[in-house]
Amino acid sequence: MTHTKTSAFAEVNEKVAQAGEILSLKSGIVKALSSCEREVVISIPLRRGDDVEVLTGYRVQHSSARGPRKGGIRFHQDVDLDDVRALASLMTWKTALIDVPFGGAKGGVAVDASKLTSIEKEEIIRRWTRSLVHVLGHHRDIPAPDMGTDAKSMAWLMDEFHRLEGFQPACVTGKPVELFGAPGREEATGRGVAMIAAATLKENKLKVEGATVVIQGFGNVGRYAALVCQELGMKVIAISDVSGGIVDKKGIDIQSIFSFKTLDEVKADERIGSAEVLTLECDVLIPAALGGVINDSNSSKINARFIIEGANQPITISADRDLRAQGVVIVPDILANSGGVMGSYFEWTQNIQEFSWPLEKFRRELDTRMEGAFINVHKVSKKHSVDLRTAAFIVAVGRVAEAFELRGSLV
Ligand code: NAD
Repeated sequence: MTHTKTSAFAEVNEKVAQAGEILSLKSGIVKALSSCEREVVISIPLRRGDDVEVLTGYRVQHSSARGPRKGGIRFHQDVDLDDVRALASLMTWKTALIDVPFGGAKGGVAVDASKLTSIEKEEIIRRWTRSLVHVLGHHRDIPAPDMGTDAKSMAWLMDEFHRLEGFQPACVTGKPVELFGAPGREEATGRGVAMIAAATLKENKLKVEGATVVIQGFGNVGRYAALVCQELGMKVIAISDVSGGIVDKKGIDIQSIFSFKTLDEVKADERIGSAEVLTLECDVLIPAALGGVINDSNSSKINARFIIEGANQPITISADRDLRAQGVVIVPDILANSGGVMGSYFEWTQNIQEFSWPLEKFRRELDTRMEGAFINVHKVSKKHSVDLRTAAFIVAVGRVAEAFELRGSLV
């Protein structure tokens, strides 16, 4: 069966509607929570050789009911308005689920980040910031890195913002540690994913030590998830990125390959395709690259007991249904990869207080709060006899709806 792209935003809203029904929310509230507060589309002229290429950029602000909007900026050739809406909405549910005082937003530029020079990337980020400065700010909307952007890009964003608005380091998170970043933020998403993988094994009365793990993605999320899984005693038997993948049934030493930019640079006896890795037999599968990679075309071939969603929306709704019918336990993105925005919250509060935490405190807070969110989702899943994704949406939608009503947003 071939996979046809459905609307990613419609897929998120299907979960919002389901949670609304379980919570008996008014239909108007569900409607409001299924639309975005503000959507800005910009054009970004980029000098390339003698000519100019015009790129399209986005900032979608989904909700500010629980606080300033928060969300990353993605540079990827497939970025479009529907994707950005879906990701902005997921940020609203993620920040509510882990109970940090933010709403949801997302940004992006439709461009292949791997084909940009560093100067071009800087030009794009600066232009994106200049065009959107009126809707950004530490109490309005706070960007962060996502696919194709990193700490360096956030430093350029902060610098451009400062030129226009004055000193305000909390205007963006995921900055370099040397420039108002927080030690621990870079690893936070991957660390959270690995902690959730370990908690899931324990919850199902399985040993963490020696459990086999397969990961798609060797970027920010994938490589730290792999590293911390190994530190916790799990065995990462395969990992892939856009250049292909490597397999070692005895366990890959992640520490020794950590500094490689891409996996085609790594020497390995056994290689595998970027997507093929998803169907390997393992205890824990961690998709940590693109959305929609597990869909109707491959869901029946998945050979994992647990899937921990490192990426956003890596599984389509119909594949999610098939996998659960096959008995696969799925820990949803809004819980599994929420360590990133939790870490961003720590960085933001430190910037505002002009006080920095040691790494140990950052990690301790992150682990404790992620564990709290994990326990709560399991409790709600048992209470309503629903799967973990539905339970996570019940918690998140319930909290946002309550804030929305308390604000009197309907008058
Ligand atoms: P990144 O750009 O650092 O890395 C992306 C990785 O995916 C790279 O290793 C790339 O080679 C790989 N990749 C790209 N296309 C691929 C393909 N077709 N097959 C296999 N691998 C492919 O991005 P990231 O920040 O690690 O984000 C990964 C995912 O995690 C995204 O869905 C993102 O939205 C989500 N996420 C990121 C954060 C964060 O803090 N960075 C937080 C929450 C969620």
